[in-house]
Amino acid sequence: MRFPPPIEQRLKEKLNIVSGCWEWTGQLSRDGYGLIRYQGKMQRVHRVSWEIASGQKPSLWILHKCDNRKCFNSDHLYEGTRSENAKDAVLRKRLHAQNITHCPKKHEYNKENTRMYQNRRYCRQCDRDRRPVWQS
Ligand SMILES: [Zn+2]
Ligand SMILES: [Zn+2]
Repeated sequence: MRFPPPIEQRLKEKLNIVSGCWEWTGQLSRDGYGLIRYQGKMQRVHRVSWEIASGQKPSLWILHKCDNRKCFNSDHLYEGTRSENAKDAVLRKRLHAQNITHCPKKHEYNKENTRMYQNRRYCRQCDRDRRPVWQS
């Protein structure tokens, strides 16, 4: 990808290539995206990169195929829709939930120990432990 020279210089200074990802090493937003001053205001680096690469104004959703928020390699970016973005987030959350096999107190979420309530899992052992002693 070719950048206009002044911005290319600034991007190169803050570039760390990690397995194909162009990681931004400069300032990050609170949610982990790279920030650069571009056209007079602070913008997310991946959006600037996408704009330069495509020659178009980025839509609301410029998403990462690589799931690396610091990455601004335009090959790793795609224009998505709001619902795609939401779907991604739901999918990730679901995967995360499936990976949890124990409650925060390390009791296993097995069939006997799991109580479902409004699509969430609750630990029966913890339910019991929370009860005052004179009730157990
Ligand atoms: Zn990437
Ligand atoms: Zn528990």
